[in-house]
Amino acid sequence: MTETRKVVFIGGSAYSGSTMLDMMLSNHPAGFSVGEVNALFQPFRPHHFKPQCGCGLAACNLWQEVRQAGMDRLYSKVFELHPQVKFIVDSSKAPFWIEKQARSAAAQGYEVHHLLIWKPAAAFAHSMLKRGEDNWARNWKSYYRLYYALFPQHHSVSYEALAADPAGSLEALCRLLGLAYQEGQEQFWGKQHHTLFGNDSAKIHLFDGNSAGYSSHEQELVEADSAKHRNIYQDKSYQQALPAEVSDLLRSDPEVQLISSLLEQAAPDPQKLAEAAFAKQRVLAGRLVAHLRNLAGRLLGRYVRVY
Ligand SMILES: [Zn+2]
Repeated sequence: MTETRKVVFIGGSAYSGSTMLDMMLSNHPAGFSVGEVNALFQPFRPHHFKPQCGCGLAACNLWQEVRQAGMDRLYSKVFELHPQVKFIVDSSKAPFWIEKQARSAAAQGYEVHHLLIWKPAAAFAHSMLKRGEDNWARNWKSYYRLYYALFPQHHSVSYEALAADPAGSLEALCRLLGLAYQEGQEQFWGKQHHTLFGNDSAKIHLFDGNSAGYSSHEQELVEADSAKHRNIYQDKSYQQALPAEVSDLLRSDPEVQLISSLLEQAAPDPQKLAEAAFAKQRVLAGRLVAHLRNLAGRLLGRYVRVY
């Protein structure tokens, strides 16, 4: 009997460490990272229209082949092109993408897993405010409320716990997913990933000074921050840097409190989870907005950042 192939979906808000977790898991001889592959099929920014493979090799035409195969055949195409691969990690994060793709993967006989990586609300607020985006609270809550409505069965992964003990945390996660942890697997830069899109500050760790496909700008980034290079860490300076009204809101908002307590449970309490989850109508409205966004992305994303 052959072992069932798996697809692992990573959910999480922006800046949650999903690209890093994706590459850590798939840094396994039987693993394969597809990164934020949703943007290949549902592009919404100019660079999505000319995808550059994470491996940096100009001759790599993996994503052209995958795009041709179509959304439904995405994972089976990767399995077909890479017969040694037994599990794929998809860190697209977008809840409706995960919903559709998980259903399709399950129908094709693959074992499906859902991981939700998170950082504290304060860290998210800090990352958003730094970029001049002040609607962080609504953003943060909506992501989780929708995710909870769609995926009540998931495993919650704390980025801070992962950064504090990468090997131990990853070993536990592998066990959960039915994979044999490989010594040193957390050092994800050891492999030539083909990861698509995702977070550049995670992908910069793949750069070893001789890698193909990296610009002089990226070289400079590595040199400027060489202490952090190939070093998994959590910068906790956000705790001091938050404006008082943000800290107040974090302490007083009951929804932030509820979601934060759910995130801290690896397998959250179903009743509490249902309390936090969006109601059916709200999910429906979100679905409509997502369709419109995809449409706008397809039409305009070539020229501007649609969102
Ligand atoms: Zn490639």
